[in-house]
Amino acid sequence: MISMSFTNAKKQLLGKPVKLARFMKFCAPKARKFGRSAAPCRRCGKTEGVIHKYGLQYCRQCFRDEAKKLGFKKYE
Ligand SMILES: [Zn+2]
Repeated sequence: MISMSFTNAKKQLLGKPVKLARFMKFCAPKARKFGRSAAPCRRCGKTEGVIHKYGLQYCRQCFRDEAKKLGFKKYE
């Protein structure tokens, strides 16, 4: 998930093309190869509480919502 402070700051500069180009050059979030932010939740993009077991890649909140559809019987 791209941070809210970045997206909000970017929104303010949408009418200012020169400043936006400079902002994107120096302030864009770094693309990560490993670590938390490299594998966010596939549904909502959160990086906290992500379940990787069985290749799920869902955060715990989305897993609760999706578990029944995925065939987990405990959540019926
Ligand atoms: Zn999620």
